[in-house]
Amino acid sequence: MAEQTDNTQQPDPFKPYKGRFKSYHQIPAKGRDKDDIYNEIETMATEENAKWKSGLASGTFYHAGDEHRAFMNKVFSLYSHINIIQADLCPSMSKFESEIVAMTASMLNGDKVKQDTPEDEICGTLTSGGSESIMMAMKVYRDKARNEKGIEYPEVLLPKTAHSAFRKSEEYFGIKMVDIPCDLPDFRVDPKAMEKAITPNTVAIVGSAGNYPYGLIDPMEDLSDLALKHKLWFHIDGCLGGFILPWIEKLGYQLPLFDFRLPGLTSMSADTHKYGYGLKGTSVVLYRNKNFRKYQYFTDPEWPGGTYLSPSASGSRSGGLTASMWAAMVNMGEEGYLKIAGDLMKVADEIKAGIQEIPELKIIGDPTFIVSFRSDEVDVYHVNDFMKQKGWRYNVFQFPPALHFCVTRPQTVNPGIAERMIKDLKEGVDYAKSKAGTPSETSAIYGISSSLEGYQFINEMLHAYLDLFYTV
Ligand SMILES: *Cc1c(COP(=O)(O)O)cnc(C)c1O
Repeated sequence: MAEQTDNTQQPDPFKPYKGRFKSYHQIPAKGRDKDDIYNEIETMATEENAKWKSGLASGTFYHAGDEHRAFMNKVFSLYSHINIIQADLCPSMSKFESEIVAMTASMLNGDKVKQDTPEDEICGTLTSGGSESIMMAMKVYRDKARNEKGIEYPEVLLPKTAHSAFRKSEEYFGIKMVDIPCDLPDFRVDPKAMEKAITPNTVAIVGSAGNYPYGLIDPMEDLSDLALKHKLWFHIDGCLGGFILPWIEKLGYQLPLFDFRLPGLTSMSADTHKYGYGLKGTSVVLYRNKNFRKYQYFTDPEWPGGTYLSPSASGSRSGGLTASMWAAMVNMGEEGYLKIAGDLMKVADEIKAGIQEIPELKIIGDPTFIVSFRSDEVDVYHVNDFMKQKGWRYNVFQFPPALHFCVTRPQTVNPGIAERMIKDLKEGVDYAKSKAGTPSETSAIYGISSSLEGYQFINEMLHAYLDLFYTV
């Protein structure tokens, strides 16, 4: 097959390395030199890392410390080749995983479970990420409902703002997800609307702490009461907030309860690979007791390959991720997590105060570490076009059009980020005014009407994107 070495074409934004580095359609007949390979990858990584190290990108890159990352990588290398399932060869894996789960449970007030209901005892497992944690909890509820309540077609009540992983569970596991609106005044889920949506098939309700679009914490005390009143199970998605809200609360910010202090809570997901500052590829899912967790376990005693078992959806998982995650938590300590949370909130508060002074922009809800805004006066997608030109990378939302910036450590180690952002946002609002009535670049994806044809078109576009991703 032809190799891509044609330098005459315009660089393709999706495939910028085409022509610059050699593309492979098949395993090379003779292996390449290690230094040569390493240097090529290092060039890509150095250029790509510069994009977020500047602090101009929202979320995604949670820890900016090179020393921290080097420590993670060093620990990772000790067990990178180990499969966690081979626990007989590596008893360290049980030590690390059980302790990560225990430390996470304790951070989220898991001790309160036994005090409230002595028959319960918090437990959990590691997974490969937030989506898997959520999907495991949903599978648990499906199977528990079928087995113990005889409900064949389970339904889960879901705030409209809850993460797509819940809708993925709907597709994968055949659990009906019933959307509950999250609108004005405060964009959190309305517990009354949730109560009205309960049917005999409802098995569980969901709240986010905080949700991805706005970083807001749903009214958890009401949801917990609702769960107890109607004997429903209750999952809190703390994938994003689970490892930062406890520290924000300790810093003295007033937050609604969001963890196992809630007596109705039966499961919670919290991502170690976000604000836990681990390497990508780990998350924790917690349950109120083992009668939930057992429905997550998979066992196959009849397999000719031996009696097979796995705690979650993944088969082989790298021991390096587990070991480095454990090392991150023990190395950070409460002190380390609190310090970073304080630094983050200082920047987030500055951003919040700055946006409050821009009359055209409206902050959504009462935010903490994510600041999300919309506008009744300008098209925020135009604002995004402008911010993009200035090098910023915001996250973009629809229904209503909004932008958010999720503060992570890169914003705290680059001085003056908040000030610079507010200055650019003010100019962005002026730019948006000058562009009023014209289509924005951002709206190329988000402006398409919410008609069935519109959705089908977007679905096709997203499929085409994934096809392109897997095209050499
Ligand atoms: C990131 C995130 C998830 C999903 O986690 P992944 O690790 O990306 O699979 C779920 N919920 C919220 C609120 C998140 O931010």
